[in-house]
Amino acid sequence: MEGVSFVRMDLRELIASPGKSLDFEFELPVEDLDFDGVLEYQTPMTVRGRVENHAGLLEARYDISADMLCQCARCLKEFSRTYRLEGAAYLTEELEDEDNADYYLLDDGVADLTEIARDAVIFDFEPRLLCREDCKGLCSKCGKDLNEGPCDCGDDPDPRWLALGQLLEKE
Ligand SMILES: [Zn+2]
Ligand SMILES: [Zn+2]
Repeated sequence: MEGVSFVRMDLRELIASPGKSLDFEFELPVEDLDFDGVLEYQTPMTVRGRVENHAGLLEARYDISADMLCQCARCLKEFSRTYRLEGAAYLTEELEDEDNADYYLLDDGVADLTEIARDAVIFDFEPRLLCREDCKGLCSKCGKDLNEGPCDCGDDPDPRWLALGQLLEKE
């Protein structure tokens, strides 16, 4: 199957062809993806995938990836990260279960793949980006990066730093 670059994908032919599939590849506009902690997209957010007709049910499998420059929510350090998300959505001409977020309605046999990919990324993206899962963050008293070693403050944090630390955690 040859790739198509349209973001709106005409599936009328595929709907009539059980067992067939259609590949897609496009870039998701990053202007729509304004996440806290992402300083810059170093590559476009690329969406690759395939729509398959499984006995009349259209399944869109996608693989989304991008390189981005981020800022750690705890230690404020900048770090590079490769974001990757794989998943699937179902395309249907009639919504039977409106509550199922994985089902998308076709518009005259046309799928809005941008919407599907954007929803998936927004749903998946962590609200707080960390340079590593066990990042120790900054000392709430002296502001030292505790990943680089302990400071001399002991464990009696100054309430002002604590408040600032909590503020940063929330952001
Ligand atoms: Zn960190
Ligand atoms: Zn300290």
